[in-house]
Amino acid sequence: MIPQTFDYTVPKTLDEALGLVANGAKPLAGGMSLIPMMKLRLAAPDHLVDLGKLPGLSYIREEVGALHIGATTTHHEVESSGLVRGKCPLLAEAAAAIGDVQVRNMGTIGGSTAHADPSADYPAALQALEAKIVIKGAKSERTVAAADFFVDTFTTSLEQGELIREVIVPIEDSATGTSYQKLVQPASGFAIVGIAARVRRSSGKIAMARIGVTGLSNRSYRAKAAERALEGTSGSAAEIQHAAALVAEGVDANSDLHASSEYRKHMAIVYAARALVAALARTA
Ligand SMILES: Cc1cc2nc3c(=O)[nH]c(=O)nc-3n(C[C@H](O)[C@H](O)[C@H](O)COP(=O)(O)OP(=O)(O)OC[C@H]3O[C@@H](n4cnc5c(N)ncnc54)[C@H](O)[C@@H]3O)c2cc1C
Repeated sequence: MIPQTFDYTVPKTLDEALGLVANGAKPLAGGMSLIPMMKLRLAAPDHLVDLGKLPGLSYIREEVGALHIGATTTHHEVESSGLVRGKCPLLAEAAAAIGDVQVRNMGTIGGSTAHADPSADYPAALQALEAKIVIKGAKSERTVAAADFFVDTFTTSLEQGELIREVIVPIEDSATGTSYQKLVQPASGFAIVGIAARVRRSSGKIAMARIGVTGLSNRSYRAKAAERALEGTSGSAAEIQHAAALVAEGVDANSDLHASSEYRKHMAIVYAARALVAALARTA
């Protein structure tokens, strides 16, 4: 299908982009979600403001204890960055799991985060990493925890006139191990379920466990009951299985032609156990 006609602006500065967005223009980043939606007429913006060529919005920088990743940094740049792979490998692993090489070359971390697809990969990793999303408006800037950012299906805490400027993720220490495990829907590459696990060992015990879940329900979330069940244990096979069994507890699981809710819940438990085993094996 052909999209409805629209105006198209390539802004020269972030302030110009913010001014246009404040007046109702729709941001365009990699176009990997927005353009298909426009072609299907699920979205019909009058005006697109192309962030892709904005100077200064694509970067990966190390600053005190954290990596700062600019909104238009592509999935490929995240996946292949030595800095991300070395200092926040969970994010690189999630980026590498996205779609195919064409999608990873065009799609951006800001676009994926703002789009909040309930089966997208980054949201699970960002939840497990307790990432922060830096949001810029025309006159203000605020920072929102990933846990508060993803509100519902395709719905975030972004307000009219705001853009994601960057995503901040922690630099991991050697006692922390991470893993992203995903059951892929083969036609699209999206997650039927995806589990991001992040664990830290201290004196032989699991001192910290963070588990981000995607694909299972209307939005990504932290499986807090499972995290609590794991913390303080030694991470034996039985303890991992017990914790993994809690990832889908109380969740209203999605059901579609790819997977029933019962299958998704079962697979969430299977993939949570796999992710936890892999993450624990990576702790020093
Ligand atoms: C064939 C195919 C397979 C895919 N497989 C996967 C997969 O396996 N896993 C996965 O996670 N994703 C997958 N995707 C989605 C892909 O990751 C997209 O890159 C992502 O969802 C959107 O990023 P984008 O940069 O292309 O954003 P766009 O499509 O340009 O924009 C998406 C939305 O975000 C808004 N937006 C963009 N940038 C900003 C910003 N900085 N601030 C505020 N709002 C902004 C736009 O207005 C729009 O509403 C797939 C896509 C395709 C086409």
